[in-house]
Amino acid sequence: MAYVILIIALLVVFLIVGGLFFLRPGRRRAAPPAPAAPAAPPTPPAEGQPPGGAAAEASGTIAPEAPPLPEVPAAPAIEKPPPSAGRMVRLRARLARSQGAFGSVLLGLLSRDALDEAAWEEIEDTLITGDVGVGPSRQIVTELRTKTKVAGTRKPEEVRQMLKAELLAQIGMNGERALHLDPRGNRPAVVLMVGVNGTGKTTTCGKLARVMVGDGRAVVLGAADTFRAAAVDQLQTWGQRVGATVVRSDREGADPASVAYEAVGEGIAERADVVIVDTAGRLHTKTGLMDELGKVKRVIEKRLPVDEVLLVLDATTGQNGLRQARVFAEVVDVTGIVLTKLDGTAKGGIVIAVQRELGVPVKLVGLGEGPDDLAPFEPEAFVDGILGT
Ligand code: GDP
Repeated sequence: MAYVILIIALLVVFLIVGGLFFLRPGRRRAAPPAPAAPAAPPTPPAEGQPPGGAAAEASGTIAPEAPPLPEVPAAPAIEKPPPSAGRMVRLRARLARSQGAFGSVLLGLLSRDALDEAAWEEIEDTLITGDVGVGPSRQIVTELRTKTKVAGTRKPEEVRQMLKAELLAQIGMNGERALHLDPRGNRPAVVLMVGVNGTGKTTTCGKLARVMVGDGRAVVLGAADTFRAAAVDQLQTWGQRVGATVVRSDREGADPASVAYEAVGEGIAERADVVIVDTAGRLHTKTGLMDELGKVKRVIEKRLPVDEVLLVLDATTGQNGLRQARVFAEVVDVTGIVLTKLDGTAKGGIVIAVQRELGVPVKLVGLGEGPDDLAPFEPEAFVDGILGT
């Protein structure tokens, strides 16, 4: 009996000691990896040591606190830009801000009680100072004169509708505005971005890459503006933000044509949908420009046809911009115009003037410095922005 009591007593003591051991403070579970932190390389165990973890737990020993890992900078997150559809409507407030004055002056003049000769002249002058161009301004006034006479009314809403219809008629070219960037088979489409430095060419390459990525396309960027290291770095940053490969040369002044050629090669190898090639915009001499751009285009065409040559024009430069446009159009076959900085000018009429000048449609417009402030040009949203509707 005494043996039985002794055994029970020993068991009780054993259980109490064991319980105290397991309830000791300081035992920790391995912390789960922080969700956003990049995976840190596993620390190899010291020679002859067990790798810790399960083995250490099983032995009941407590691993010494690991020294804090050096902070690894998080890889920049790849952004998902918004798709192209509806961008212009979303950016309409910008247009209303910059173009509103132009539209409201026109509407104010048209709503006057007496539309006499002087009033029509003022309307024409307003259109001309808004960069619409002399010919189109005259046409608009002639049409409006006839229509207001026939309708015999000048209720504000009707006047607005008449003016809207005239501006839309002058903008025209609707069927040709889409970018022709459908890949052929598994060959990427190629865009050549041309224009004078400072117009927003490199920025537009970056923004267009975002438009494309937003629409689910894979993009390769070619930094063929090799004369400006800043432009190359700028393009690199744009590409990194959306996960697009940027083909560049680290040598300033490297042959732009060879960078363009490599970029197209990379686009083919990656099975990208679109390759966008930035070019140098030094308007030194027309012959120099022609040689440079001509060579870039010819060299690209050894691999793939160029689908779009987009001329970037700064809307704030008015007549000067039109002169530049003319030079570029003589040098390369421009297929579309990108009108940048429309947020910074009240002279939206440049859309009409430049299309007339080149016979090529405005395909994209820049409406700010933000990364997604580039929109496919939609005439109706544009005119609504001008007229504040
Ligand atoms: P590049 O020399 O033609 O390549 O011109 P950049 O791309 O370097 O742009 C020149 C400046 O124009 C930069 O400060 C851009 O942010 C600015 N820019 C480009 N597009 C727009 C636009 O649509 N609106 C405004 N406000 N600024 C723009």
